[in-house]
Amino acid sequence: MKKVILIKYGELTTKKDNRNFFIKALKKNIFKKLSSFSFEIIDDYYRMFIIPNEDDIDDIVLKLKDIFGIHEIVIAYSDEDRSLDNIKKLSLDVISEYEGKTFKVVTNRSDKNYPIHSMDMNDKLGGHILRNTKLKVDVHNPDIMLNIEIRRNYVYVYVNGIPGLGGYPVGTLGRALLMLSGGIDSPVAGYQTIKRGVELYYLYFESRPHTSIEARNKVISLARKLERYNSGGKLFVVNFTKIQEAIYKNLDPDYLITIMRRRMYEIAERIAKRNICLAIVNGESVGQVASQTLKSMIAVNDVTNYPILRPLCSFDKLEIIDISKKIDTYEISILPYEDCCTVFVPRHPVINPNLKHIYEEENKYDFTELINEAVESVEEVDLVEKRSDLL
Ligand code: ATP
Ligand code: MG
Repeated sequence: MKKVILIKYGELTTKKDNRNFFIKALKKNIFKKLSSFSFEIIDDYYRMFIIPNEDDIDDIVLKLKDIFGIHEIVIAYSDEDRSLDNIKKLSLDVISEYEGKTFKVVTNRSDKNYPIHSMDMNDKLGGHILRNTKLKVDVHNPDIMLNIEIRRNYVYVYVNGIPGLGGYPVGTLGRALLMLSGGIDSPVAGYQTIKRGVELYYLYFESRPHTSIEARNKVISLARKLERYNSGGKLFVVNFTKIQEAIYKNLDPDYLITIMRRRMYEIAERIAKRNICLAIVNGESVGQVASQTLKSMIAVNDVTNYPILRPLCSFDKLEIIDISKKIDTYEISILPYEDCCTVFVPRHPVINPNLKHIYEEENKYDFTELINEAVESVEEVDLVEKRSDLL
């Protein structure tokens, strides 16, 4: 008898035609995440089995919990001896490790040449367990569900699984550029996007010296937290100072945020296209602040045709905070360093910006050169943690 890890695919199973494509991607992501362990993978259309060194199982399960595309992680007992006597013995061994009063046996016989049919097997094993334990049968709501999977070379016996993250394997649905500020929302928006199989690159607008190096470090730390789920992401930092100052000095102060966000979208679109990111993602949530009314979204979105994903558009702040705690970004996000938007806050930001007025204001100043300069001078920051960062 050997312990193995069984992976259930979840939502992937709804994919008929390209299921293999998703499974292959999941396998690749698992190999990448578990590169420091030695193990084997056996997979098919329905399941994946990881055959690890037994000592590594707990550490491997911890890593698997961060991989999208996994519905459930199960520690199963596998054995080459598929005789009824051995399966009876395995069943008793396994079930005795769990607490509960009631049980049910569910057999899945994927090797159709195996002589005992699933229903017969359920009866035989159920009887054996009834005779040898104090457990009772409950077919509707059992405390312990004992699963028996009979395959060509092995039988697998297991009880409950640990929930995985669900979603799709990262990278199967292309790449997007996340506008990552130091706040609570954008990291969560990033997480929700990765969940749908979209790989991320990150973009941060910085306004030194109005914003500090601590504000930048905060964004780097947040990106690193997201890399736990993403991996291979790049962080681009745009020097936004001149643009912000130009808006501040020359245009209607009440429109500062709207006009600034229009420039952000223009720059984000260019950086996204250059880096084969198929959409821009941000942490906007309808109504959360003045710049996130639907009318503000029209005014800002007006500069681009590029898809802008707003995964949090319908989330309450409390729901967002819950997720940020779960993904461990909350404590970083609430550090007090100013981001560029809070430095230049107008006294009366418009809630319903008027596009005609925006065009009139923007006619007073030509941003083309500053935008080109910002795009050309974008800096890429290394997200791989160095030893010195850990000290
Ligand atoms: P967050 O908590 O993510 O900072 P917020 O509620 O503070 O969001 P805004 O400041 O209006 O909202 O920003 C809305 C979105 O615009 C952010 O979620 C983020 O995606 C993007 N954004 C804002 N400032 C920056 C920045 N300096 N760099 C990159 N993206 C930014
Ligand atoms: Mg913010």
